[in-house]
Amino acid sequence: MKLKEIYSLIILTLLLTLVTVPVSAQDLLARQAPVDRRMRAVDTLALKAVIERESLENPAAQLYEDWDNTYAHKQTELPDSFRISLKHFCMPTTSRVITSKMGPRWGRVHKGLDIKVYIGDTIRAAFSGKVRIKRYEARGYGKFLVIRHPNGLETIYGHMSDWLVEEDQTVKAGQPIGLGGNTGRSTGSHLHFETRLCGVALNPALLFDFVNQDVTADYYMFRKSDYEHESVAVNKTIQLDGAQEPTLAAEEQRDIPASEVRQYTETRYHKVSAGETLYSIARRRGVTVEQLCKLNHLTRDIKVRPGQILRYS
Ligand SMILES: [Zn+2]
Repeated sequence: MKLKEIYSLIILTLLLTLVTVPVSAQDLLARQAPVDRRMRAVDTLALKAVIERESLENPAAQLYEDWDNTYAHKQTELPDSFRISLKHFCMPTTSRVITSKMGPRWGRVHKGLDIKVYIGDTIRAAFSGKVRIKRYEARGYGKFLVIRHPNGLETIYGHMSDWLVEEDQTVKAGQPIGLGGNTGRSTGSHLHFETRLCGVALNPALLFDFVNQDVTADYYMFRKSDYEHESVAVNKTIQLDGAQEPTLAAEEQRDIPASEVRQYTETRYHKVSAGETLYSIARRRGVTVEQLCKLNHLTRDIKVRPGQILRYS
């Protein structure tokens, strides 16, 4: 009997606890809700600051395995696609004068934009980030900097007369990082400006509009397939394009002087797509079927197959 009493007491207590706890807990929550929300806001701000600090300490860690001060740029594994945020930018210079675009030049490829600046002009960080390389290259970029940014990009600033930052220093967008100059392989003072993703040079003109002193959009969508395509053309110094949209290299060629285009594109190739014929290719490339046949040692009646590479100039 006694045991039974204890038993029922325990059960009663348990039941009471189960019923009262949620009520009182809810009550407590209700009373503290505004404070909680305030706390959350404070937490979010603090967290945001921490994230920001960390993203500057180790920018774009998702793309780059390591932080290395040895190489200026080397190609690492590219993502298939990557959205590069261009928000919170600052134009590296207030100059609106482009003196040389990205593309083939003098038998090599110019991997950035040249912007007219004068010796001593302030050069600013395009985005917040961390200085990876501060170096002097007498026969190349002269006094230059490579800065890695949390948006995945690395920006390169060349031919400067002086640096204003050190390696491993974090910088804010718009912070003065160097002075305009004419050091290295340069004729006339200018800023050589590059934008790279995992070591691959993207045309800065796709991201920055120097004439209007603005970015081209809030973000730039990088697609590996476009650049693999480009690298074929660049590495072999041939223009190899299929039936797709014009590539970056092709876009660039339209803007450079004809004399340079000719020199660069003496040999051009076409990759045959399904449904194409010698006639349609000739028409598309602005050559005659005879020229195509002669260049590729073909006869007029031959059937071209998809994927086949034809020289057309
Ligand atoms: Zn340049």
